[in-house]
Order: sequence, then C-alpha cells, then structure tokens
Amino acid sequence: MSQFTLQSGSLYCEDVSLADIAAKHGTPTYVYSAASIDAAFREYQTALYGRPHLICYAVKANSNLAILNRLARLGAGFDVVSGGELERVIRAGGDAGKVVFSGVGKTRSELALALDRGIRCFNIESESELRQLADIAGELGKTAPVSIRINPDVDAGTHPYISTGLRENKFGVDASTARRLYMMARDSDALNPMGLDCHIGSQILDINPFLESVDFLTAVINDLSKEGIKLSHLDVGGGLGVSYETPAPKIDDYIAALLDRLSTMDLELILEPGRSIVAMAGALLTKVEYLKPTSQRHFAIVDAAMNDLLRPALYGAWQEICPVKPRSGEVLEWDVVGPVCETADFLGKARPLSLSEGDLLSIMGAGAYGYSMTSNYNSRPRAAEVLVEGATTHLISERESVDALWQRESIPPEGSL
Ligand SMILES: *Cc1c(COP(=O)(O)O)cnc(C)c1O
Repeated sequence: MSQFTLQSGSLYCEDVSLADIAAKHGTPTYVYSAASIDAAFREYQTALYGRPHLICYAVKANSNLAILNRLARLGAGFDVVSGGELERVIRAGGDAGKVVFSGVGKTRSELALALDRGIRCFNIESESELRQLADIAGELGKTAPVSIRINPDVDAGTHPYISTGLRENKFGVDASTARRLYMMARDSDALNPMGLDCHIGSQILDINPFLESVDFLTAVINDLSKEGIKLSHLDVGGGLGVSYETPAPKIDDYIAALLDRLSTMDLELILEPGRSIVAMAGALLTKVEYLKPTSQRHFAIVDAAMNDLLRPALYGAWQEICPVKPRSGEVLEWDVVGPVCETADFLGKARPLSLSEGDLLSIMGAGAYGYSMTSNYNSRPRAAEVLVEGATTHLISERESVDALWQRESIPPEGSL
C-alpha cells in the first residue's frame, strides 16, 4: 500500500500534507515515509521467517543516516561498496559484523578499514583483489572472511547500465576462475572462504533470471563441496525491481520462489536489496517555476533538476509525476525539465497535466538512487530530506548552503598571473 495518498484534494505522505512540507522546508525536498520503509523491510523478514538469513540493505540506494539507523534497528545488515559507506553504517548505529563489502575496486585502505572494523564478509571480484586482501590481512594478523562474486552470465532483462550479471560486465568472475580463487583462499591462512555471492543487476521485473542464477550458484556450491570447501552462506545479491511504470513482482513472491528453488540447501541466505526497500517510500517535491509552451513541445520548468534526481537523465528512467494539488483545467502534455544547462536535464516527458506557475509537483518513486546520486552540478546546493512518521516530520538532512559549495576550495596566493 502506498503511503502517498490524496486526502481532500491534496497529496499526503502518511498524515502530513506535502504542501505543508514544501511551505516549511522549501523545494526541492525529498520526502520519505518511514512506514513504507519499515513495511518493505518487514516483508523480506516475514517471507524469510524460519530460514537462517541476513538482509543486507544496499546502502548506495539511499544512505541517509536516519534511514540506515531505522533499518539497523529493524535488524538489517548492510551491503556497502566503499569505505565511506561502511563508516556511514557504523555512524548510523549499524553493526559492522552484519556488513558485506561489494565492489570491483576496493582500495588497500578500504580493505584495511573493513578488516579493522570486523565486517561479516568481503565479496571478492577478482584474483588481484583476493591477493591484495590476503596480503593486508596477513600484515594485520587477521583472517579475512571471503565470498567470491560469480558472474552467472544471465540476462536480467534490465537497462544495460544496470545489468551486471553478463559475461561482458566488469563485475564478478566466471565459475572456473571462482573455483581457482576458492582453492587459493582455502590454502591461505589469511583467508576464510565462507560464502558465494552474485548480483545480476537492478530494477529486475522478472523472477526467472534470479532463479536461473540461483541454479547456477547451487551447482558451483555442490562442486566446491566435493573439493572439501564447505561454504556457510549464499548471497543472492539485490536487484528486485519496483513498480515505477509496470508492475514488479511482490517481495514475498520473489522470496517464496527463491526459497522453493533452494529448498534442499541449508546455507544461510544473504540478500542485498536496495531499491525494493526504499524506492517507493520516497518522493521529490518540486515547484513549477515557469511554463514555456512552444510550437514543438510544452516545457514546465521546475526547481528540481538532474543534479537532484539523475535517473531520468542517466537511464531514461520513468517516474510518475503527480500534482500536489490536482486542479481541473486544460490538460496539456508537459515536458517537466530542470534549470540545468543540459538537454538531458528532464524529469519526465510528455506528461498529461493541468499546470499553473507556482504549482507543486511530486516525483514519485524517488526514495532509491535519488538523493544518493545528487551532485552540485551548476553550483546547485543539494535538496533537503524529510522523514515522515505518522503525523510527525523530521528534517533528516538540511538543504545545503551555498557557502558549503566552496568550503573545501582555495585560491592560491596572488603573484603568479
Ligand atoms: C547496487 C547493488 C545492490 C542493490 O541493488 P538494488 O537493485 O538496489 O536492489 C546489491 N548488491 C550489489 C553488489 C550492488 O552493487
């Protein structure tokens, strides 16, 4: 059930009107429903009940401390892809012992940091990375828990930029390389091979690629076990899609299908969902600055832009755009665009809307890969973020100040003109 509803002609998040949030905090502002985040996380938990598991929320989807803290209190582990994300999790009150560390380019210092913090597992993506980790763990007198990320060569049927499980992608290793890396790990005092990992892509709307990939992983696990390598967990990654435009599988149907496929396997199951937990919990509030109808297209120029929400520009992603106070009046097809000096700077194209200057719009499904992909392009300060809990709103990140834009910059002393 969506926590964004029309109540007497005005859009609400839980029990708070979006117009009130805009009046108080300005625009553009991200608004998140706490109940929606909780519900999605609990849907995973309930579906996995009775089965040893760890739900490692993928921090990159939305890494605000308040959201990480909330998920940590619900029992989440975390999937991180940088030292910065690991530090965020710890700062938010998350347990490093429930963190898995993914990514193809972990640096020496990130590996050392994660070893020092005592994370649950390193998801290894290459032989060089495995050697580097063994080297650092040896120096620190530690044993590093590792999974190898397998690339199962399945087509997730998603956008090429968010497809990661094909042989041609930079992620993971093939099965024969994985086997070799497990042997290396088994024979090293500094490494402990614990699990097997994969992640085939994002915004996946069909359960079958997940099942195909799980079958592939199961076969690898059985092979390894014949070599005397007994793993204790299987990490199936994240990637379940959400209903931006077309319906996505429900979380519990997805889990039920996975568990059915894994019914004979007793390993602990690790999942790394990001989008499916936070995407539909968020909206980006923006104000219509100018209407610019032209002979070709009608432009609604709003105060949010590609630096605030990159998905439409980066992937051509479609997100629903709703008026905060729907009006009756002439409906035209509007291209909703930002002020940034790029033709790619659009939030939606040809949207049938009845608009006036000054209207508020809500870009739905903005909780994942929204704020976490923001930038300061065009020297635009980052938006504010608000978390709604029933009738209460919490400002969970202030609007960035203009001064903050150049706080880390400096002008060299004069004399060299
Ligand atoms: C991005 C990512 C995820 C999360 O993907 P979603 O589509 O947001 O569920 C999980 N695992 C890894 C390794 C990732 O890179």
